[in-house]
Amino acid sequence: MKISLLMNQKVTASHLKRQAYCYVRQSTLKQVFENTESTKRQYALRERAISLGWPIVQIVTIDSDLGETATSVADREGFQKLMTEVSLGRVGLVMGLEVSRLARNNADWARLLEICAITDTLILDEDGIYDPTDFNDRLLLNMKGTFSEVELHVLRSRLRGGALSKARRGEFKTRLPTGFVYDHNDKIIMDPDKQVQQSFRLFFDIFQRTGAAFATVKAFREDDVKFPCRIHCGPNKGGLQWRTLTYSRALVILKNPRYAGAYYYGRQRSRKNVDGSTTYYWVPQDEWIVLLKDVHPGYITWDQYEENLRRIRENAIAYNTIDRKTPPREGPCLLQGLAVCGKCGQRMTIRYKYQRTRPVDPVYLCQRNRIEKGENSCQYIPGAGIDEAISKLLIESVTPLTLEVALEVQQELEARINEADKLRKQQVERAEYDANLARRRFMQVDPENRLVADTLEAEWNEKLRALQDGKDYYEKHRRLESEKLKKEQQEEILKLARDFPKLWKNPRTPAREKKRMIRFLIEDVTMIRKEDITLHVRFKGGAKKTLKLPLPLKGSQYNVTDPEIVELVDDLLSDHNYSEIATILNARGYKSGMGLQFDRKVVAGITHSNNLKTRYTRLRNTGKLTVDEVAKLLGVSNQTVRRWGKKGIIKTYPYNDRNGCLYEHPGVNSPLMKKRT
Ligand SMILES: [Zn+2]
Repeated sequence: MKISLLMNQKVTASHLKRQAYCYVRQSTLKQVFENTESTKRQYALRERAISLGWPIVQIVTIDSDLGETATSVADREGFQKLMTEVSLGRVGLVMGLEVSRLARNNADWARLLEICAITDTLILDEDGIYDPTDFNDRLLLNMKGTFSEVELHVLRSRLRGGALSKARRGEFKTRLPTGFVYDHNDKIIMDPDKQVQQSFRLFFDIFQRTGAAFATVKAFREDDVKFPCRIHCGPNKGGLQWRTLTYSRALVILKNPRYAGAYYYGRQRSRKNVDGSTTYYWVPQDEWIVLLKDVHPGYITWDQYEENLRRIRENAIAYNTIDRKTPPREGPCLLQGLAVCGKCGQRMTIRYKYQRTRPVDPVYLCQRNRIEKGENSCQYIPGAGIDEAISKLLIESVTPLTLEVALEVQQELEARINEADKLRKQQVERAEYDANLARRRFMQVDPENRLVADTLEAEWNEKLRALQDGKDYYEKHRRLESEKLKKEQQEEILKLARDFPKLWKNPRTPAREKKRMIRFLIEDVTMIRKEDITLHVRFKGGAKKTLKLPLPLKGSQYNVTDPEIVELVDDLLSDHNYSEIATILNARGYKSGMGLQFDRKVVAGITHSNNLKTRYTRLRNTGKLTVDEVAKLLGVSNQTVRRWGKKGIIKTYPYNDRNGCLYEHPGVNSPLMKKRT
């Protein structure tokens, strides 16, 4: 909603009067046949133009290049037509997939964009709308071009884009959890095995009744009921296995929206590590790429599914005190998904502290242990100032010089990869030789000699397996190696260094783009909290940088307050009550741990959590009397004492803000005492 409003600001009546051109480009005939997906994405762009206000008759699709491998403009009629129309000022909008990528790497497109800027023509791709006359947009387009160039390489974005748009319609086939199968029309049905169905019905019934995954598992165990599991790979693929139900399996089932008949895509994200391995991590529901409800039969309803999740969460809270006030939410934090706990190595989650409804400072939490085992959370790091420090570091670090160094390291790593490749290849050759040898031995043995033949056959099989493993291993690493950066891409990255600080500092650059940029530059950030916060920043190129930040002042609710303030409060308590102390602290410019003003409650909190003597105790220790004591001493009523107190006849010492006060001893020679005698 917000985005479309923003987009509309760029579209003016003058744009809408002109044509909107959708440029469809598929370079090979093979793509035309196989890649209907990208065609669909391109036609989706037309829909966007309509929603922006272009009448359908004004939208022209150029797809005459379909099926032609075009190396230059000369043999691409369609592109030339587009160019001509734009330069004549007849076009208000040019649409295309990955326009930014093309603009960066293709001279024709770069020229087209220049002409677009002159003729005030807008650009639209899947990410948004750009005004080439606007400096920031032009910069953003270039930057996106560079990034997607790298992205294309590392993430094979186009392939994923195809899968994504298929997934958005719920058509991308994903592996089904046990309990469902695809029928011969690829429709999702309940597992035809009645026993499997019954097991799941029983499972959800018991959970409904007990409200706890652990109790459900226990029920299955006590009755010694095994739970079905479809095998997804290996020789018995598709077969059923009956296993003991485990706690983690129960949670997986309860959290899987498939059982409620929903289709999802992108519950997990992956990240490549420097050593070539991949790490997967879960994202919260509002960050899933696709969620379509009621697309196939389910064992439970969607409402039940959500209710189950709620119960699991509540149980987790019962285990420990998960702060209910700040549920994980999407926020502006730059390091989302990049923070790693320096104590245990797990990914850290981010919460936001809220001031009324505005998210303020992020808080980094390592709570894997809390969720999995019910232990205390491992680290809690207040994130105020971390984003700022990272921004500063990036602007300092992303210079042509440092990037060059990083790329050199990269090249060196690649050289090492090549050597490793040779070694691995030799390993495969050795395995091949062994396998051949085993085969020959088996062939030569007398078939009558069963015992020997069997042994040799087993040996041969063994060698074949080893060979296959070796080949798989080799292939896997070779694939990784082919992902290394090409020379041109390295140059692109160096160019990026020049524009980066400008774009980063521009307040109009959206946080989303910043987050995206940061992902191309930083591998992860390891955080350790001790007396201060230490950040180990690992850049993509392999460079490392350590930052130290002071811990921000903590509020009394975390039981630790800056000792300076505690001491001050201790001091002030001798002569002042809580409100007065709050006023004094505020006047001296101190801030509470939350960065807020002090008030009576905060000061009281500090007093109690640090076991400071209260004002009341202090006054009592110096011999001050209560109303009752004074009344008894003077032989008058409590009211009289209070009245004398108010009038100043007896000196009073307030100890709280509710008119509670203690009284000075009238003294033996006081006229009040004499009155009594
Ligand atoms: Zn941890």
